[in-house]
Amino acid sequence: MSRNRRPAFQFVVVLAALLSGLAAAQTQGPGGWKAGVAKVAITPVEPIWMAGFGFRNHPSEGVREPIYIKALALQDNTGATSVLVTADMVDTSRAIWEPVAERCEKQFGIPRARIVFNEAHNHSAPLVRRGKIPSIYPLDSAQLAVVERYTSGVIDKAVEAAGRAIQNLAPATLAFGQGLAGIAVNRRRASMKRSLPGVIDQDVPVLRVCNTGGGLVAIVVGYACHATALSDYQVSGDWPGYAQAEVEKAHQGAVTMFVQGCGADANALPRRTVELAQNYGRILAAAVDGVLQSKMTPLTGAINAAFERVDVPFRKAPSREELRKALDNTTGFDRQHVERLLRLLDRDGKLMDHYPYPVQVWQFGHALKMIFLGGEVVSDYALRLKAQYGWETTWVAGYSNDIFAYIPSLRVLKEGGYEGGGAMNQEDYPGPFHPAIEEVIVDEVNALVQRTGLKE
Ligand SMILES: [Zn+2]
Repeated sequence: MSRNRRPAFQFVVVLAALLSGLAAAQTQGPGGWKAGVAKVAITPVEPIWMAGFGFRNHPSEGVREPIYIKALALQDNTGATSVLVTADMVDTSRAIWEPVAERCEKQFGIPRARIVFNEAHNHSAPLVRRGKIPSIYPLDSAQLAVVERYTSGVIDKAVEAAGRAIQNLAPATLAFGQGLAGIAVNRRRASMKRSLPGVIDQDVPVLRVCNTGGGLVAIVVGYACHATALSDYQVSGDWPGYAQAEVEKAHQGAVTMFVQGCGADANALPRRTVELAQNYGRILAAAVDGVLQSKMTPLTGAINAAFERVDVPFRKAPSREELRKALDNTTGFDRQHVERLLRLLDRDGKLMDHYPYPVQVWQFGHALKMIFLGGEVVSDYALRLKAQYGWETTWVAGYSNDIFAYIPSLRVLKEGGYEGGGAMNQEDYPGPFHPAIEEVIVDEVNALVQRTGLKE
């Protein structure tokens, strides 16, 4: 399908040095910070399979809006540098991000705990994949070659974005504040039953990065909601893409980065038109402006960082006999899943019983805890951790470091449905997670918060 041999990327780095030279005489900003930011386009330049939905049956037909990988480097008063990487992408597994982390450690000396990757979970993005392609994406070999080429390019661009952000380090000030925006709707009420609790997290956490002259350099904004307003064959950033563009339009010269929260059980509703996606973008941008105009909390001191993988357990795997029986009364993706599990049993003699789940914590003194969770995390986790650690000082992101499955809370697991186990008919997973999953994850967060806390 691709007759020419063009690379799958516009190798365009959109932004270079952004920090003002006003404070060149100073080595650091008042809080001891240096910051640098970079924005690299990852817009595909040829038709490519799009990910997130299983119902698409052919590659992309065009580009509605450009998409990006962005990086923010923060050097604190101890000289340690931490890098936040955000991407207008979807289903980015550890197979994508770990090679980036390794290269950043080797090339720039950034330890694993000090680099974090978050995807917008943008369902209008190309498929990226290292290794096996899930059966919901029926690619032929030519389409697979496009995906592999694009994936390699994305990995290179992520390293490039991190490197440029580090190169751009210059004296800066940091501040944190929060707003609210009414975009997310609990989608389980729409897809299962209206009587379910409407649990959602509508907070809008904002990290403001200024140069020492007061000019905006970067605006990092979080929100917890699926980026599924659009579902056609045009590449775009969906509503988070429109939100970032809207904030950047209002604050020329500043890079805006979107961090996806624990929005696995939330959709922007209603949806499916470009106008609605743009409207959600405007709503989030308006909330960001409200926060920027409010009194924000200055961040001082150092970032303490920790990263670990903890084994989250699956429920007891079905036996060969149970799987054989299930073959008789399943169809579609469920049947393919049962067949796959039987093949795995033949090959390995057993099925997976746990998954190494990534948890990462960055603490900015007492003023802000950023908790980054892997997978598609439901809202309960964010609400529980913010209640525990402080609503005004805690930012909980999902979709970080490894997006591999839905992460239900105990409540959602008991309720069942798609996020509660129905979606676990993909990949090689033996079935739903064990009810202990929520406590295992929260215990690991607690351990990392303790480890990164101020010792006083
Ligand atoms: Zn999702």
